[in-house]
Amino acid sequence: MEKWPIGVFASVDAGLGVRWEVIRDLKVPTIQLHAPHVESRIPAKASELRRQLESMDVTLTAVFGGFEGESYADIPTVERTIGLVPKATRAERLEEMKQIADFAHALSCDTVALHLGFVPEDASDPKYGEIVDVTRELCDYCGDRDQFLHLETGQETAEGLLQFISKVERNNLKVNFDPANMILYGTGEPIPALKAVGKHVRSVHCKDATWSDQPGKTWGAEVPLGQGAVDIRKYLQTLDEIGYRGPLTIEREIPQDPERQLQEIGAAVELLRNLKAELA
Ligand code: MG
Repeated sequence: MEKWPIGVFASVDAGLGVRWEVIRDLKVPTIQLHAPHVESRIPAKASELRRQLESMDVTLTAVFGGFEGESYADIPTVERTIGLVPKATRAERLEEMKQIADFAHALSCDTVALHLGFVPEDASDPKYGEIVDVTRELCDYCGDRDQFLHLETGQETAEGLLQFISKVERNNLKVNFDPANMILYGTGEPIPALKAVGKHVRSVHCKDATWSDQPGKTWGAEVPLGQGAVDIRKYLQTLDEIGYRGPLTIEREIPQDPERQLQEIGAAVELLRNLKAELA
């Protein structure tokens, strides 16, 4: 694959991804896909998706898991509801992630990703070992299918993420780096964080945001690419420095309004194409 193929975060029926007709209009060569609802995660649907992607000449680079009951309403709600961290839903969500890995496998996709949730920064926290264990189990399941598991960044500091990866001790555990999440959650400056976790980064989001006036307590604001605090030129320069050559996947969490998606994400594609021409 060429260096830095542009992509978008897409969805068929779940999540805030770009709609199918927008992908076609934008003519991007890659997508990441938000896993469809459970009733759609069947072989017939996988075949249909595979045909659609082939007809559009689009490569699927990752499937992102998400769960019923998750809410990003505010930071405390995220801590309570997201990913494999909340204990009450952990076992069923692990099983669901395994189904999502199977679905990705049926689409010949070697990458499964998720927001793991708020991993404690303190490794002596009693929850920590349980979260390491569930992550290992999922890594091993993916490994049996020659897949990687990517952790979406943002809910922990770069140091916290490095510590967690070293504790899990699985070679197929990698990072989907999202610079805007670092700003939204107030977990650190994205560029130094990217340098710190660089060797683990195997996919990225191109997303922008502005800082909260109370970082870590309330959200910053997600904004169109190039209009926030990330510094997209510096971001791409840093990706180059760490030797990253994979897709540049635009993520824009706006409603399923095709016109607005086409306009805002179209502008992001244009920005990345220009910077790529300059830097790649
Ligand atoms: Mg993201």
